[in-house]
Amino acid sequence: RAYNFNAGPAALPLEVLQQAQQEFTDFAGAGMSIMEMSHRSSIFEEVNDGAQSLLRELFGIPGHYKILFLQGGASTQFAMIPMNLLTPGKTAAFVHTGSWAEKAYKEAKLFGSTAIAASSESDKFNRIPALSDIHIPADAAYLHITSNETIEGTQYAAYPDTGDVTLIGDMSSDILSRSVDVGKFGLIYAGAQKNLGPSGVTIVIAREDLVAESPKTIPTMLRYDTHVKNNSLYNTPPSFSIYLVGLMLKWVKERGGVAALEQFNRDKTKLIYDAIDTSGGFYRGFADMGSRSLMNITFRLATEELEKQFVKESEQAGFVGLKGHRSVGGLRASTYNAVPMESCKALAEFMAEFMKRNG
Ligand code: PLP
Repeated sequence: RAYNFNAGPAALPLEVLQQAQQEFTDFAGAGMSIMEMSHRSSIFEEVNDGAQSLLRELFGIPGHYKILFLQGGASTQFAMIPMNLLTPGKTAAFVHTGSWAEKAYKEAKLFGSTAIAASSESDKFNRIPALSDIHIPADAAYLHITSNETIEGTQYAAYPDTGDVTLIGDMSSDILSRSVDVGKFGLIYAGAQKNLGPSGVTIVIAREDLVAESPKTIPTMLRYDTHVKNNSLYNTPPSFSIYLVGLMLKWVKERGGVAALEQFNRDKTKLIYDAIDTSGGFYRGFADMGSRSLMNITFRLATEELEKQFVKESEQAGFVGLKGHRSVGGLRASTYNAVPMESCKALAEFMAEFMKRNG
């Protein structure tokens, strides 16, 4: 298997893929694939409910939160959130931490009043602003944060306390990679394709009072209450993706749950951050130490030419996805839940060896 460091869609555990392969043409003895089955069948309902309850168990989601499996990616949530939750006369506040926070912010602007509560733009988004620098406007409907900035490689070490103001978190690139106090948030959302499974399904975890009744003026499919009332089965769901999320969740449970996975992720990324930090400046980490991401490790070399050479040689050595995002350049290793230790060890070794030849 390739050493897959893709930013998304990203690596899935081999065991998960193999189980899906085994069940591919005949699921649960039904004589058909799960993707050929009615989403109203009891077999699929079990898959749907099973994935929900396992996510609830593993991520510690309190009983008064709803879990939704939606389509349209996290990008659709950028619009659905203000459509449903930005009440007239109120302001949607954002912590401006990078490329994804900006997209969420710009989309909300289409629907009402917005404000930047804190920003690290003047530092090229190489850090998460200090929590004490976040100023929430008095008329805030909610504060939106991007828990992990996938492109810049920064991540909140701790989340802000927002008091009575609803905290909303885009966890697209770090959901289930570490323990989170879900009760701090009013709503959490994430595309599944980095840490939870394949693309095609978006997870929304929301306090039930926030999603019980949506404004009557917005389209049916974009109303949270539509999906709450129908257990995410209002229309045909992305059934195969939901099934794979279920398998991925079982894999997480078998590995000891989220706390064990967090330690595993810390051990994995330490190998690569150490390779950067002990290189005497040959590799330069992009993110400030206190904002470093456990999921996306961004770093640079002295010249773009050397970076190109790194990417080319890494590909020849079996590594995939190490080129940084086109908007910021440099290099990036994405080390999501399913990336094995072996890949990170191999990368750390490759980095040391590349430095020896070019340092
Ligand atoms: N938010 C973050 C933090 C992301 O990393 C991404 C995708 O990379 C998105 C949102 C957009 O997700 P989607 O492609 O599911 O719309």
